[in-house]
Amino acid sequence: MALRPFKTRFAPSPTGLLHLGNIRTALFNYLLARQAGGTFLLRLEDTDAMRGHEKFARALEEDLRWLGLVWNEGPKAGGSHGPYAQSERGHIYKEYFSALESRGVAYPCFCSEHELAIARKTAIAAGHPPRYSGKCRALSRAEAEARFGRGEPATLRFRVEEGRIVEFDDKVRERQVFSTDDIGDFVIRRSDGTPAFFFCNAIDDAVMGVTLVVRGEDHLTNTPRQILLLQALGLPAPEYAHIALVVGADGAPLSKRTGSRSVQELREAGFLPAAIHNYLARLGHTYEDNSFMTLDKLVSSFSLARLHRAPARYDEAHLAHWQREALLHLSAGEVGEWMGDKVSALVPVDKREAFVVAVRANVTFPADAMHWAQIVFSDTLAISHPAREAITVAGEEFFDVARRAVEKHGADFKAVSEMLRHTLSVSGKSLFQPLRAALTGELDGPEMAKLLPLIGVERARERLSRFVMS
Ligand code: GLU
Repeated sequence: MALRPFKTRFAPSPTGLLHLGNIRTALFNYLLARQAGGTFLLRLEDTDAMRGHEKFARALEEDLRWLGLVWNEGPKAGGSHGPYAQSERGHIYKEYFSALESRGVAYPCFCSEHELAIARKTAIAAGHPPRYSGKCRALSRAEAEARFGRGEPATLRFRVEEGRIVEFDDKVRERQVFSTDDIGDFVIRRSDGTPAFFFCNAIDDAVMGVTLVVRGEDHLTNTPRQILLLQALGLPAPEYAHIALVVGADGAPLSKRTGSRSVQELREAGFLPAAIHNYLARLGHTYEDNSFMTLDKLVSSFSLARLHRAPARYDEAHLAHWQREALLHLSAGEVGEWMGDKVSALVPVDKREAFVVAVRANVTFPADAMHWAQIVFSDTLAISHPAREAITVAGEEFFDVARRAVEKHGADFKAVSEMLRHTLSVSGKSLFQPLRAALTGELDGPEMAKLLPLIGVERARERLSRFVMS
């Protein structure tokens, strides 16, 4: 069956750094848009009065670019439906407010926050849905004008027809049915004149030609309101897919406390974009193929039909698994670059490639590479407690022979260990553990045959000599 091209969007509110949960939403939208040559749009939902929008907007654009989730319509990319920041779209919202007012489906409401809170409490206590009572619904134009004249602040409410059903087929949660009796008239413009989130969000989706909205299920109850608004304005509603939220090990939505990290933190720790793609595209979505995939491959086999309804559980170990997979797919040169300048500064230029080849299977993050670079190339060596034990058990004679073996065979690890085997009749663990312990300070790590030439004969001799008294 031929795929339909979707126009999807990512519509973050730039009030903080992007976290894994936001990025998953962006990724799903990106994958679906790219599938059949559709459009992935970026819109900044920056209408509230929070400060720092500009900074967070730039940061999220940078995060998306770093992840390769390039939008083909939106800030800096251009398009025919701009501007793409809601803070610059006030004139558009104004038009739609007027249209709703002139059609008699929006009215000013003078109820104070305090009054509304009491009404809500009373409704809940009486077992009714806490919807707006409709107090200002019947105000005449003259009454409203008089109150405006007295300088009373008012919100603008959308008039919801009673006794109606609003239905839509959610792409993940299937048929959704809501009664307008549970919704009640809702605020679309605050008393300070700013538009409510779900008003601009719905208007923009419609006028920007978005055809599919993939977003968190925390927005599910906004959707019937948004559909009612669009119907009243004669605007097309997109299709919706409400995805389950990402939860931590405790089952609660992911938060900073439960391990959700910002994209910036992940980047600084050395996570690769491909690891994040492979992990997130499988968080609440199943691929038949569980092997590592490029972004293009993730695009071509992503399916709306395989999105899960159950909450997606974040697991740091899975993310680390994809990080190792992603590393395996880099060339030695790319791994060297990924390790970063601090590591390069420790590794002599002529040994860089051999270092990467030696340690790449043992590193998940640049910090691990740093650890091995320090072990191999610094003059000081810390010996771990278990390594020290293995050294003690092996005894002085072992290191005396080992030192002589290095003097004789150089950095040829095979020849060095052969000489020890023959001279001392040691083998297996009792041969390899003390050697590794004295040369690296640890009991595990990259292959010694690859490390020894990097450590070099001089340094190896010196390290082995430390355990020989005479
Ligand atoms: N700005 C909203 C948010 O960040 C967008 C919700 C949506 O995707 O419709 O939650």
